[in-house]
Amino acid sequence: MRVVITGGAGFIGSHLCEALLARGDEVICVDNLASGRVANVRHLVESPRFLLDVHDIRNPLEISGRIDAVANLASLASPPGYSRRPVFTLTTGSVGTKNALDLAAAHDARFVQASTSEVYGDPAVHPQREDYWGNVNPTGPRSMYDEAKRYAEALVAAYAREGTNAGIARIFNTYGPRMRLDDGRVVTNFIAQALRGEPLTVYGDGSQTRSLCFVSDLVRGLIALIDTPVTGPVNLGNPHEMTVLQIAELTRDIVGSTSEIEYRPLPQDDPTRRRPDIRRARAELGWAPTVAVADGLRATIDWNRSHGVVEAHSGQEARCAS
Ligand code: NAD
Ligand code: UDP
Repeated sequence: MRVVITGGAGFIGSHLCEALLARGDEVICVDNLASGRVANVRHLVESPRFLLDVHDIRNPLEISGRIDAVANLASLASPPGYSRRPVFTLTTGSVGTKNALDLAAAHDARFVQASTSEVYGDPAVHPQREDYWGNVNPTGPRSMYDEAKRYAEALVAAYAREGTNAGIARIFNTYGPRMRLDDGRVVTNFIAQALRGEPLTVYGDGSQTRSLCFVSDLVRGLIALIDTPVTGPVNLGNPHEMTVLQIAELTRDIVGSTSEIEYRPLPQDDPTRRRPDIRRARAELGWAPTVAVADGLRATIDWNRSHGVVEAHSGQEARCAS
C-alpha cells in the first residue's frame, strides 16, 4: 500500500510509519513539526519507500501518484501543548481534517482518523462505550482539543455517508518511546521527574484514573483499522485502569527512585475516570492490547535512559529540534 500519515513525525505517527514500512508499504509522512521531530523519523529517511513532507495540513494536501490510505494523526495532543495554541488546534482538527479527507476522497483511498477518548469529556458513563455521547465543556480549557476532535468525527461521518471509505479510532492514553519528555503528559512527566530525582507532580489527590496503552499495541490497532472497512468509531486502548497516584508509584518503583510525591492543584475539567470498553475493537478488528503496563513503562524508561534524553536534556532537545 501507499499510505499518507499526517502527524507522522510525532510520537504515535513515527511508530505507525515504522510499522507500515516494516510490512512493505510505502509511506508519505506529512508533518509541520509543531510538536513532532525530524529525529523521530531520521532512521526511516534512508528507505526509498519513505518520504517526509514538511507541510501544515491546514493548507490543502497535494500528493501525486496513487494513494491507498490516509491516516490523519496531525494534532497537538498534550493538554499543556494544545491549550497554549487553541486556535491552531481547532483549525488543524477542522480545516486540516477536511483537507486530509479531501485527499483521501480524491484518490478513493481508505481514511482513518485519530480521534480520542477526550470526545467523552469527563464521562458520566464508565467504562466508556462508543455509543456514549460524552460530557464535554464546549468553551472550557480543554475545548479547543475536545471540540476539534468531535467536529472531526462529524466530518469523517459525513464523508463516510457520501461514500468515502473512512474509519474513526478513539485512542485512549498511549505512551512509549519517543513521547516528548517535555510535553507535559503524565507518563513522561513522571518518568522525567523520577529519573532526575525530582518530586513527582500529582495533580489533585491522584484518585482520578487513566488506562494506559503501550504504543506497539495501539499501532497494531490502527493498522487493523486501516486494513478493515469499518467506520466505527472504535475505542483503542488498554482497559487496565489505574489511579494517577498508582501510575506515579509504579513509575517511581521501576526507575528505583526515592522521589517524593508532590501534590499540585487539579486542572479545571480534568476527567475523573477513564477506561475503554474494547468489545467493538475485539469483535470488528480482532484487536486487543497485550503489553502489561509495568513492561511498557520499563521499555519507555529504558529508551529514555539509553537516549540520554534526561541526562543531557536541554542540549538533546535542542539538537533534535534543529
Ligand atoms: P504528537 O504531538 O507526538 O504528534 C502529533 C503530530 O502532529 C506532531 O508530529 C505534530 O508536529 C503534528 N501536527 C500537529 N499539527 C499539525 C498540522 N497543522 N499540520 C501538520 N502536522 C501537524 O502526539 P501523539 O501523542 O503522537 O498523537 C498523535 C495523534 O493521536 C493525535 O491526533 C492525537 O490527538 C491522537 N491521540 C493521542 C493520544 C495519546 O495518548 N498519545 C490519545 C488520544 C488521541
Ligand atoms: N497529571 C498529573 N501530573 C502530571 C501530569 C498529569 O497528575 O505531571 C494527571 C492529569 O491531571 C490527568 C492525568 O494525569 O488527570 C493524565 O494527564 P495527561 O495530561 O497525560 O492526559 P489526559 O488524559 O488528561 O489528556
